[in-house]
Amino acid sequence: MANINKASGKALRAQVAGAGFAGLTAAIALRQNGWDVTLHERDSELRAFGAGIYLWHNGLRVLEAIDALDDVLQGSHTPPTYETWMQNKSVSKETFNGLPWRIMTRSHLHNALVKRAREVGVEVRVNSEAVSADAEGRLTLQTGEVLEADLIVGADGVGSKVRDSLGFKQDRWVSTDGIIRLIVPRKKEELGAGEWDNTIDMWNFEPRVQRILYSPCNKDELYLGLMAPAADPRGSRVPLDLEVWVEMFPFLEPCLAEAAKLQSARYDNYATTKLDSWVKGKVALVGDAAHAMCPALAQGAGCAMVNAFSLSQDLAENSSVEDALASWEKRIRPITDRCQALSGEYAANRSLSKGNMFTPAALEAARYDPIRRVYSWPQ
Ligand SMILES: Cc1cc2nc3c(=O)[nH]c(=O)nc-3n(C[C@H](O)[C@H](O)[C@H](O)COP(=O)(O)OP(=O)(O)OC[C@H]3O[C@@H](n4cnc5c(N)ncnc54)[C@H](O)[C@@H]3O)c2cc1C
Repeated sequence: MANINKASGKALRAQVAGAGFAGLTAAIALRQNGWDVTLHERDSELRAFGAGIYLWHNGLRVLEAIDALDDVLQGSHTPPTYETWMQNKSVSKETFNGLPWRIMTRSHLHNALVKRAREVGVEVRVNSEAVSADAEGRLTLQTGEVLEADLIVGADGVGSKVRDSLGFKQDRWVSTDGIIRLIVPRKKEELGAGEWDNTIDMWNFEPRVQRILYSPCNKDELYLGLMAPAADPRGSRVPLDLEVWVEMFPFLEPCLAEAAKLQSARYDNYATTKLDSWVKGKVALVGDAAHAMCPALAQGAGCAMVNAFSLSQDLAENSSVEDALASWEKRIRPITDRCQALSGEYAANRSLSKGNMFTPAALEAARYDPIRRVYSWPQ
């Protein structure tokens, strides 16, 4: 598609609602393809929520395509192995056959995307909440302003107002397990001997179900995900109930003591959203607005970024926005759907506790290369 609106003779215009990983990626990729892009963020500043994040080959390839990879690689970490423990004993060490992966703080990834969005000339508006959209390409803001565009991208997260205003048929549910996510100092020396540069997925089923996903982000910062069933009042308590976590994971006490100091800690359930379609007329939904998923496979943001980037590819290859959105959903959605389904199954069955569960099916989305559109990576 030429990047010109035939009627106005001007560059095609996109209004993107939501400056999370999905909205930022969509805005940058469209802008790189010559679109005029305005990115609307409801909050008064651009910032990331949550603590740490895993990105795999698919998301790293998107970062490469939008020229943000170098910034992300500096200050992030690839652990030597993904280790799984059961009752504090190692059961597996996985290296994914060389598949690239990386752990980082969310703010690190978000900052790199914001920097790139500004470099390519995305117009960013904060305090700009989208309340609805229509299939003809109008986005209405909370102020009452109505903006016309050739494309609306609803990237406004799991509670998407853009989505809900358009009447998509949707199934939504939350899991029985949830998580407290925190960034704490590494404290590597205090932890003593051990392979503390690994990711260590520490499961305990006895005497209570409690899991810690130990994920080093860089030399100073550690991402801790502390998982417990929502029905467990002590495991789900915030700020952290230090005693109940140290009892189960005594060797992590130096890090857990730091975690217990964080008054802002939150316990979150995992939300899943499944829609009949991601597209209506000139509106495309990306990220959690379209496909929030359980985090078992750590792929929600990776899929979001792939889908946001792929959208710009289909728009460049089709003669109308509506055709582009239809072909985009048909082409890319099945990968996310399969990932969402398996991630949900893994979460419901706590499958990762068995170790060696990153099977080819579990890594399908991660292996996808959105630039070359193949399932392989440079060896
Ligand atoms: C516990 C947990 C762990 C996870 N771990 C991983 C992982 O390791 N790897 C991975 O790939 N994924 C992971 N995910 C999934 C990942 O966090 C999400 O899929 C991803 O953050 C979704 O990005 P998004 O941009 O779609 O939505 P969000 O991050 O929710 O961003 C939405 C943005 O839109 C803004 N907004 C909301 N409403 C409006 C509005 N009406 N108008 C304007 N702006 C609005 C919000 O303020 C926000 O900035 C995890 C999820 C959970 C719950």
